[in-house]
Amino acid sequence: MQRPLIIDVTLRDGEQAPGVVFSIEEKVLIARLLDRVGVYQIEAGIPAMGEIEQEAIRTIAALGLQSRVSTWNRLLLTDIRASLACGVRDIHICAPISEIHIRYKLHQSHRWVLARLKEALSYALAHGCRVTVGAEDASRAEESFLVEFALVSQELGAERLRYCDTVGILDPFTTFERLSRLREKVAIPLEFHGHNDFGMATANTLAAVKAGCSYVDVTVGGLGERAGNTSLEELAAALKGIYGTELGLGDRVLQLLSRYVARAANRVSTQAEYKLRTGHRPSAYKALTTQPIQPIENMLRVERR
Ligand SMILES: [Zn+2]
Repeated sequence: MQRPLIIDVTLRDGEQAPGVVFSIEEKVLIARLLDRVGVYQIEAGIPAMGEIEQEAIRTIAALGLQSRVSTWNRLLLTDIRASLACGVRDIHICAPISEIHIRYKLHQSHRWVLARLKEALSYALAHGCRVTVGAEDASRAEESFLVEFALVSQELGAERLRYCDTVGILDPFTTFERLSRLREKVAIPLEFHGHNDFGMATANTLAAVKAGCSYVDVTVGGLGERAGNTSLEELAAALKGIYGTELGLGDRVLQLLSRYVARAANRVSTQAEYKLRTGHRPSAYKALTTQPIQPIENMLRVERR
């Protein structure tokens, strides 16, 4: 199995999980830990959401991380201007491509989507950005329009195309078939974005890698909308344990990152919840939810010296 490059979307899709709001300090620390873990790219948020989000993204972009730092944008120049104002030069532009989204959510046409894409992509490229394009709801879209959309993105200069299983309806077999067909028709690299509604996000992501996707989207702990996204930890473990493919991530920091994100998102491990519910060792639960994660404090102290 080839080794995919990891795009972490915890700070964008992860924060869209019900009840999850990260503070600016938490976002910055999560970004620093992701960088230490060694992910290829960090999708830091959506500048169009407002000033607090922009401040977090601006701070993360100014950290000088090894990981690329990108933002999520709609097909709107105002979104891209907001990203540029945050000092970000890696722009992800997401466009709805299924009939349900285009006709019933936006009341628009295929031609409208392609025209807006051209405008937004050209604008970002003219401002010196590296641009990736997302096909939102691709798993429910007409295949002919998906291919047309991908080829237009490629022609306009997009760096890669993100295939989004936005509502989590794929299984590994369908994922492999569809992404293999798309791989044959499109030259730019493909990125897979999976959701876990039927518990298949990790399996679907492995199928996408097998079909030729060289980039995959994950979140820490699978945190994300509805049933969540592909879990970074599960994917790394499956690639290593089943295929012997090492992602080259820092395992020790990954453990700390998992604990930190679970804490910041008010999630605790299933085991701990079980113990709490059954009345076993409530002190273990309390420790998980309240005590400082000392190795992170120590790590940052060393960095600051
Ligand atoms: Zn998503």
